[in-house]
Amino acid sequence: MTTMNTNGSTAHNPAASPLPPLHRFRAPTHGARNPGNEPTATTPGSFALRHDVGGPRMFASPDTPGMPAPSEKTAWDFLPEGWSVEALGTPSLREGSEIHHAERGGTHWQGRVTSGNPHVPTMEAAPANDGERGTAACSCCKDETHKKVEFTTAKGERLRVTYPRDFIPITQLEFARLGIVTPQMKRVAERESHFNVLYPNKGAEAVRDEIAAGRLVIPANINHLTHKLDPMAIGRASKTKVNANMGASPVSSGTDEEVEKLKWAEKWGADTVMDLSTGGDLDACRAAILRESTVPIGTVPIYSMIIGKKIEDLDWPTIEASLHHQAKQGVDYFTIHAGVRRAHLKYVKNRLIGIVSRGGSLLAKWMLVHNQENIMYTRWEEICDILRQYDVTFSIGDGLRPGGLADATDDAQLAELETLGELTERAWRRGVQVMIEGPGHVPFDQIEWNAKIQRTLCHGAPFYVLGPLVTDMFPGYDHITSCIGATSMAYHGAAMLCYVTPKEHLGLPKKDDVKQGCIAYKIAAHAADIALGIPGTRDRDDELTKARAALNWEKHFELSFDPDTARAYHDEDLDVDTDFCAMCGHDWCSVRISKEIVEFVSGKAEGFERIGAGGKPGAAIKSAALTPEQQEILARRGVLSPDEIHKLASKVKKAMGKERVTSDESRGQGSDAPPDSPLVARDSSLIASKLSCHSDYVDPETAKKVQQEKLVQVNLAPAFGIAKEDRVI
Ligand code: SF4
Repeated sequence: MTTMNTNGSTAHNPAASPLPPLHRFRAPTHGARNPGNEPTATTPGSFALRHDVGGPRMFASPDTPGMPAPSEKTAWDFLPEGWSVEALGTPSLREGSEIHHAERGGTHWQGRVTSGNPHVPTMEAAPANDGERGTAACSCCKDETHKKVEFTTAKGERLRVTYPRDFIPITQLEFARLGIVTPQMKRVAERESHFNVLYPNKGAEAVRDEIAAGRLVIPANINHLTHKLDPMAIGRASKTKVNANMGASPVSSGTDEEVEKLKWAEKWGADTVMDLSTGGDLDACRAAILRESTVPIGTVPIYSMIIGKKIEDLDWPTIEASLHHQAKQGVDYFTIHAGVRRAHLKYVKNRLIGIVSRGGSLLAKWMLVHNQENIMYTRWEEICDILRQYDVTFSIGDGLRPGGLADATDDAQLAELETLGELTERAWRRGVQVMIEGPGHVPFDQIEWNAKIQRTLCHGAPFYVLGPLVTDMFPGYDHITSCIGATSMAYHGAAMLCYVTPKEHLGLPKKDDVKQGCIAYKIAAHAADIALGIPGTRDRDDELTKARAALNWEKHFELSFDPDTARAYHDEDLDVDTDFCAMCGHDWCSVRISKEIVEFVSGKAEGFERIGAGGKPGAAIKSAALTPEQQEILARRGVLSPDEIHKLASKVKKAMGKERVTSDESRGQGSDAPPDSPLVARDSSLIASKLSCHSDYVDPETAKKVQQEKLVQVNLAPAFGIAKEDRVI
């Protein structure tokens, strides 16, 4: 409650208001769902917009003033020649029925599955005059050149689509346009349960509708589906995805190492992987990666087009052959830098760092040498037709992306983005799925606008961004500088984030760099999904909070994204599982103290109690020995000596407190090392110094005693004017 003083200023008197602070301060909720299903949560939930899957703002941040509105067009506005769509009124016909066969209950698709693989939706037209399938013109059908199909969207809108009679769908976009739910769409709805939460029992239809609108893609080459690919989707209606780049370079790495990196990236949550090899046996490396991957694989085909050649020699036969070859191999998406046009190059000359995209710089050189327009731009329709044959998705490259903050959001970048919008429309007209690549290096304040101008110019096609880095002066830490930008970009509209590793700008990422990059980006993606209010995205966080509140370390580790690191870091300081950790120690552990305050039941959630020694809740228990992986994590940190890590692993370290370091131990007993080893003496003194630092290291019984002696059951209710019967939480 605010009151006016005699001098005209305002005074705030919260105690005088009957309303709780959330009401008084008017938290800016816009109708987005709370991303967690935790019924006792106290947060107001997401401040994003109400979900609009099936509309231009699927999961979206509120626009700050000055942001461009979403495009009013979708892929439905860019149908191939001979196609049309009408929005009808109330549904009248049987779902999925072909309009001129409706009364006979004919199926809406007049073909049949021809692939031996049930996951591959390859179709072929049924033979003419096949009465059973109804392909032949029926008496009610006057127009023998076209067919019509009706279906109802997940939102309940009835659509009628007219398409050429001899048309055979191949791509997910084409199936979606015909109202067909493919096995891949079903799989996406199964993997991303929020579709079924928002549209009960119609999740797969919602996926289909987003694909038909061009706002969602399923990068699933029909040949990759015959291997191990598990279909996934990229688009703002789905959860934010993360791409990991890898690939051999002329100076480093080989096929085996790259396959190992692929598996490693999958382990750490990469949703797609790009093979950016520029050295070694590119073809063998790509084939091996495609054979082994469960995630979609992307490439930049121009790299293999110029191996052993000069860029000046690039011609259409080379491009055509290379695209066919890689598509046939099973690559799921291609980055093609067709948006860099001759007219854009004049905007580049005043940049601090010019063109930083490999593909962009190569094609710029090709244009200057030949004094011609970008061959990828002029041959776009032919390129589309190659991709369509295998359902390869476009990731239309941003060859003029800024390479530093000083070049962000400049004329070159925006001129190219306008062209990317035009290329999107042209690709949709050829039935090809599209996503758009984006920057790069963008100051934090420009990120929202970058995301929203893309949404406008490219009609909601999924935005796939690299970072962006929000500062340029931290080489070695660019996984952090960029994941800050990536979080913001995803919240404002990006659908997939291309990871950046600590080796960015410095060298070829190694295994641990891949892990660091993946984790940084999983954090960015997950943080954005929670902020956007995607149903259920916060559930695991809430579970972990409950385990943390209960000081249940086992569950805490189990729910962690990286359990090995969590356990190793915990055990590094205190390998006893008890009601506190080494951060604050026993007496200062606020979580433990909070558990003692009976009015606040935090940490007592059913199923989360920490059961300690002797099956007693809360009793201290020795932590399990470290696994080799956990030992390696500590070894890399370099804080502990190998011998100290060995002790954590083999449990020769004595239980804290109870068996404090004795003079025997300081002489080396209980150690594998000889008693006079200098290592042992150093270890023992280190343990002793740790113990003396943590004066609260105690055995379970002492811990209990201390708790009873030193802690009182505090009832804070009277202090806050809360009646005894009120439930605070
Ligand atoms: S000791 Fe400190 S950091 Fe550790 S659980 Fe308790 S409050 Fe958390």
